[in-house]
Amino acid sequence: MIDLKQVSLEYPVTRTLALDDVSLHVAKGEFVYLVGHSGAGKSSFMNLVLKRALPTRGEVRVAGEALTRFRGRRTALLRRRIGTVFQDNLLLDHLNAFDNVAFALRVTGVPQREWPQRVTSALRTVGLEHKKYALPVQLSQGEQQRVAIARAIVSDPPLLLADEPTGNLDPDNSRDVLKVLQNVNRRGTTVVVATHARDLVETYRHRTLTLRKGKLVRDDPYGGYAL
Ligand code: ADP
Ligand code: ADP
Repeated sequence: MIDLKQVSLEYPVTRTLALDDVSLHVAKGEFVYLVGHSGAGKSSFMNLVLKRALPTRGEVRVAGEALTRFRGRRTALLRRRIGTVFQDNLLLDHLNAFDNVAFALRVTGVPQREWPQRVTSALRTVGLEHKKYALPVQLSQGEQQRVAIARAIVSDPPLLLADEPTGNLDPDNSRDVLKVLQNVNRRGTTVVVATHARDLVETYRHRTLTLRKGKLVRDDPYGGYAL
């Protein structure tokens, strides 16, 4: 699903080497954590996969395609096939959970008659089918984050990237969000989670990639948090 071959990313102007000769392979269907101190290169990795940044060296392939050869429209198509979840996921305040998730289908080619079933299924996956008429203010932060996950998966992306998805949540909500991400993974989506949440990484074990100053210093198939 994701292939990096000797990838380096140096940002212009500041000349920060955010990723330094990183090679890795994430197979279809995997659940992978990406850990490392702030500034280690986690967001840069996500940016490369989304083609928001181009590698200075090496090659990035997503779903078998080399991103460097992509042009405008294909980049848009690529991004549509990748679900994203961030620390702060802005839901639209005036729309209920159902409509927030449905909103994500507007830009896809899914016929409108299929939306209700799609949205309901996505809300079921995140355990919020019973809150579909709730407005964001009526939901806890954890529930809002789960709606954001439903929004990210409603178009059935083969890949989901989550960057600090529990960064603003208390421990209980964090665990719920993690379980939801595992649930998404069980349904066939490849999931990559960049996180600082040591307890989650230790409790819910998955392959863990560790970055240190842009270098991939550990790739542990059994997981565990050691920076
Ligand atoms: P994280 O929360 O993962 O530690 P940061 O707070 O370091 O991330 O960065 C948040 C966003 O700001 C990222 O998208 C990153 O690419 C961008 N960013 C980080 N450092 C810089 C910088 N020195 N100059 C410009 N953008 C930056
Ligand atoms: P993380 O997500 O692990 O905190 P980042 O990928 O955000 O790490 O950052 C890696 C390094 O690259 C840091 O030194 C950061 O300051 C720098 N950086 C990130 N984004 C940018 C950017 N857009 N321009 C310049 N430097 C950046």
